[in-house]
Amino acid sequence: MDWNGMMESILVLTHTDESSALTKASLEAVTAGRELAARLGASLCIGILSADPASGASALATAGVRLLAVTGYAFGQARYATDAAACEALCRATYATIVLAPECSRIARVAAGVAHRLSGVIDTHITSLGGSNTLEATRWFYRQRIEGTVTRESRPWFLLLDAGTQIAFAGETAAVNPELIDVPLPAVRTTVTGFRSPESDVQTIRPDARLLFVAGAGWTKKQPDGQTHASEAGNLIIDFIHRTGASLGSSKSLVDQGSEGNSVLPFLTHMNQIGQTGATPRHPKGLSTCCHGEEPHVVGWRFIGERRAISLDSNCGWTRGKADVVYIADAFKVIAKVNELLERK
Ligand SMILES: Cc1cc2nc3c(=O)[nH]c(=O)nc-3n(C[C@H](O)[C@H](O)[C@H](O)COP(=O)(O)OP(=O)(O)OC[C@H]3O[C@@H](n4cnc5c(N)ncnc54)[C@H](O)[C@@H]3O)c2cc1C
Repeated sequence: MDWNGMMESILVLTHTDESSALTKASLEAVTAGRELAARLGASLCIGILSADPASGASALATAGVRLLAVTGYAFGQARYATDAAACEALCRATYATIVLAPECSRIARVAAGVAHRLSGVIDTHITSLGGSNTLEATRWFYRQRIEGTVTRESRPWFLLLDAGTQIAFAGETAAVNPELIDVPLPAVRTTVTGFRSPESDVQTIRPDARLLFVAGAGWTKKQPDGQTHASEAGNLIIDFIHRTGASLGSSKSLVDQGSEGNSVLPFLTHMNQIGQTGATPRHPKGLSTCCHGEEPHVVGWRFIGERRAISLDSNCGWTRGKADVVYIADAFKVIAKVNELLERK
């Protein structure tokens, strides 16, 4: 199909979670789609992938747009063949020239393949959509050091939106029937046998948490009494994480200690690492403890709104302009006191 010269037609791809509700990242994509459609004067459709789309569709009742769904047991499961077929069918049914979707594991796995099937183009990790008459998509390059703006002539243009960059759509719920798109079941090689996820109190990486708590190598270093206190450190940190629901990050030095055979906090892995060679999460607030605040670590704090740090070193990187507030104090004592106050509360 020749897409050139067509008025933009926007499709937002969404999916439901195990509870049949639309995921938060999907609702963020809906917000982005509505704003973009209003700005470009374009048509807007929302496609839902779900075994049971009723609840997801009802959450979009006040969005005032055409709702479509691919449904059925097989299409409720995350699997390349079925998800790609469903997304492709939704794109074809809506003649979408711009496809917005959440950058979640399920959609990210199939989006490039679907774009290819439609002879389209794709950009990932989009953080904002700007432009007045045209679409300008923003993303970060080179480990979040350079922010770039992308425009493209080719259509359909798929844009995957990073989670946490938009406000999730929230409207009154009401019963609404989405148009059901019939998709022939493709050849399926993968059988989904179920979900296995850690208990919520074992899972320490919480992208939606209001607070990021970072543990640095200082927790396992010799303290003023000349001894290390790794198990006490572990108890203090995990107690704080459980009481506050914060997400747990780490410096590279601390997680690296495990591979060197040194005492290390047992619940930390490289998945917790924040920084240049780690993650760059988005949280409104961050609290760094026993961490020096070196640049390769702090670059991972780019999207943390308000930064605070606790360090014994009054000359550490945080005090040199990298944190909003620095407490020059012993983190063992501070966190013990905070946990005590939280317990009383
Ligand atoms: C190419 C490259 C990539 C890198 N990528 C990353 C990355 O992705 N992430 C990352 O984190 N690092 C990264 N690093 C390493 C980074 O440069 C630092 O070495 C690392 O972040 C230091 O970790 P730290 O601050 O926990 O440890 P340290 O530098 O050892 O600092 C420990 C701090 O704890 C304080 N302290 C000790 N006891 C207490 C106490 N009781 N109370 C309060 N404070 C206390 C000390 O004063 C000290 O400031 C990278 C380095 C390179 C070269």
